[in-house]
Amino acid sequence: MEAARREIPFGKPLIGDEERRAVARVLEGTILTHGPSVKAFEAAMAAYTGAPHAIGTASATASLHLAYFCTGIGPGDEVLVPAQTHVATAHAVELVGARAVFVDSDPTTGNIDLGQLEAMIGPRTRAISVVHYLGLPVDMRRVMELARRHDLLVVEDCALGLGSSIDGTHVGRFGDLGCFSFYPVKHITTGEGGMTITRRADLAALTSTRRAFGIDRNIVQERAIPGVYDVQELGLNYRLTELGAAMGVEQMKRLPGFLERRRRNHQLLSRLLREIDGIEILAEPPPGFVTSWYCHLAILSADLAPQRSEIVDRLKARGVGTSIYYPRPVPHMTWYRQKYGFRDDQFPQASRLSYRGIALPVGPHLDEEDMAYIAESLRQALAGTRRP
Ligand SMILES: *Cc1c(COP(=O)(O)O)cnc(C)c1O
Repeated sequence: MEAARREIPFGKPLIGDEERRAVARVLEGTILTHGPSVKAFEAAMAAYTGAPHAIGTASATASLHLAYFCTGIGPGDEVLVPAQTHVATAHAVELVGARAVFVDSDPTTGNIDLGQLEAMIGPRTRAISVVHYLGLPVDMRRVMELARRHDLLVVEDCALGLGSSIDGTHVGRFGDLGCFSFYPVKHITTGEGGMTITRRADLAALTSTRRAFGIDRNIVQERAIPGVYDVQELGLNYRLTELGAAMGVEQMKRLPGFLERRRRNHQLLSRLLREIDGIEILAEPPPGFVTSWYCHLAILSADLAPQRSEIVDRLKARGVGTSIYYPRPVPHMTWYRQKYGFRDDQFPQASRLSYRGIALPVGPHLDEEDMAYIAESLRQALAGTRRP
């Protein structure tokens, strides 16, 4: 018997009356940026992650760019970056004039391959950038041990890691800086927005100043004449708006519920996907590791891989929205290929995830029946594909 057709978008921001009221309150006032809502959102993120400092920014990309800008990484320096990530992880390195050196993925977790990482540390390496791929924490104890031994900075891209932790320590708190995203399909949203967390007071102060033109904050507060300030640093305009931050404060209150829904959906979908032939899934978190359950990844077997777009179309025809995380390993993107001459056969594990993966939704807009429908739809799509 056919289950009734469902419409299952891959991602759907859950904006409720609380968020709408909070934004309306901001609009009733005159402070639209850089005000009390940003402060409240920063305080909520600091409390949730346990980080001593949280600085709101325009996006995760802005936070990542500021991370390298504020640690003085630049021309002549190299930063080790996972090949399998959003292009922003690598762009942030290249934007300050440093070189992104790509490391392939661990086949079981999708995270940066720590075995290869150590061998790639060279005389110009200044930092390690890790991405908690689809929310699963990278083994930060090993990363920090390597970083200490080789005197390297560590930047954590936590764009998919809100809610992820190791032994109770939230991701973003292991390295020097952690960068979060509030883009609409991430765990919570502010429209566009980001956050930097750090335990280092020096980097917190510099990030805060450089996100707003390098303006000397103290002078702004101390001077009697409005509009008078001094500039002691280079800087950008990477601020978060009051409208976004007001949404963020409300979204943070709902985050535990969102994560619980994701966990339940993900666990059910894991069980159902394990019964389907022709696909593999990534490893479950090891003991002590908590993931944020960003999405599920069904990795097609090599023989089915050429039919991926057909399979995605069949899922779409049944109303199941999917995505690809991420569409190509970053070194296969044209800009990087042209700059560094990478070839198709490099980064085989990142390629397996990019070219054979289908990302399936588990977000809080969905429930157990949706998971059963997704699994059944995938089973049918694969069966249809193998019988041409
Ligand atoms: C989404 C994402 C980003 C970019 O986030 P923005 O807030 O859109 O700049 C960076 N890194 C990873 C891993 C992402 O998934």
